Amino acid sequence: TPHASASNAARSTIAGSDDAQMVRQQLRDADRLHHVHSFTDHSALQQNGGAFIAERGEGSMLVGEGNIRLLDAMAGLGCVNVGYGRKEMAQAAADAMQDLAYYHSFQATTNPHAAALAERIAKAAPGALNHVFFANSGSEANESILKLVRAYWRAKGQPNRQHIIARDYAYHGSTLFTTSLNGLPPMHEAFGLPLSGVSHIEAPYWYRQGGDLDPEAYGKKAARSLKDKITELGADQVAAFIAEPIQVTSGVIMPPESYWPEIVAICKQEGILLIADEVVTGFGRTGHWFAQNHYGIEADFMTLAKGLSSGYMPIAAAVISDKVAEMTLQQGGAFQHGFTTSGHPVACAVALKNLDIIVQEGLVERAAKMGAVLHSKLNTAIGDHPLVGEVRGMGLLAGIELVRDRKSRSHYPLELGLCSHVANAALMQGVIVRATGNSLVICPPFIITEAEIDVVVAALVAALEQIYGQLQ
Ligand code: PLP
Repeated sequence: TPHASASNAARSTIAGSDDAQMVRQQLRDADRLHHVHSFTDHSALQQNGGAFIAERGEGSMLVGEGNIRLLDAMAGLGCVNVGYGRKEMAQAAADAMQDLAYYHSFQATTNPHAAALAERIAKAAPGALNHVFFANSGSEANESILKLVRAYWRAKGQPNRQHIIARDYAYHGSTLFTTSLNGLPPMHEAFGLPLSGVSHIEAPYWYRQGGDLDPEAYGKKAARSLKDKITELGADQVAAFIAEPIQVTSGVIMPPESYWPEIVAICKQEGILLIADEVVTGFGRTGHWFAQNHYGIEADFMTLAKGLSSGYMPIAAAVISDKVAEMTLQQGGAFQHGFTTSGHPVACAVALKNLDIIVQEGLVERAAKMGAVLHSKLNTAIGDHPLVGEVRGMGLLAGIELVRDRKSRSHYPLELGLCSHVANAALMQGVIVRATGNSLVICPPFIITEAEIDVVVAALVAALEQIYGQLQ
């Protein structure tokens, strides 16, 4: 079939023979006509002749369409933390699949990889987060947590506590309820969301919302909006607060250091559960194993996905504290929840190998070290650029806020697509960065080298210059 030969052709003809080009075109047409893409404008996809075909990866490089080499400063979607093309990961998958391709974790059955991975996660996780439920995506893990939140309050005899508080700019997933938690209105409009039972409070976005306050004063103010919302709803109606320690999807919104201690105190005072969504920040991205380690948070739940397997297999985890497990899992009666592929042996084996690599190669420490290099080089090269309002982040996570006027912090209308134009210009320089709202996001693999960071920074300098020139 054209499909089978296409993957062979794509692999063997990096130089790109006519045959390989023809097969690629067939594939692009098949994709254009039949493949529904995530977060994609499908009419534009039709008009532009179809999607880019990613074919291989090596280290920090993504290779597509035969021989187009792109330095992936986004690690896919912030997940390929150990880098592309790790043979030992492929071997771990092959070995696990040969031993046991599948068995479920329903009704008191496990497999060696799931058992070992659950213990490994529990040992690494902050505080009393000791119980691991496996899912296939961050969305499913969050959705699972939300069901446990409801179960917890029912078991406590407070079934009215069902309301979940989330934040503006949040991203927690694409299922019905997690979409409702997202603080991004365009994701709601087409679907008649959010569902009832969700409220959003201000995000700690000092650069946009801090006004005349210094970051620390603003951090406390933003945290107090949680208290105000609980008072407005009535504490006896509120079940939980969900938040990403750092909001990455919306441009690496860094909470001032005063923010998290205040949030933790409010959750304690009001007796509501705290869910730390560490889907992006988990497993070293910030230079700490978890962002909670940096902020001194011990949440009641933690969501993990992306970096758990470095994206090599779909796997996610809902990590549950002793306090919640005691009320929901240890009171007798079955836990009425689960997915066919929860604790999948191959996915768990790959995740274990991924964690081995992170430990053996000191990749968390490396994320801290290379992160400092990235931030210093970004600040030197573009910190004073007229289009750059702020460079922020932690570890190998950087957000660059673009502005019209640095002094007033005003920005160009979103419809102008400034960030997309800059990201596209960087792509033309061979570097993948991500445009979101008024910001660019950089989130590279932990194995990125200093020379590669130089390439990323140089591409951004060139892209900003080009677009700035066009604006004059
Ligand atoms: N939570 C956060 C913070 C995320 O960034 C994402 C995805 O980007 C999710 C949840 C959803 O994860 P998934 O796409 O695996 O469902």
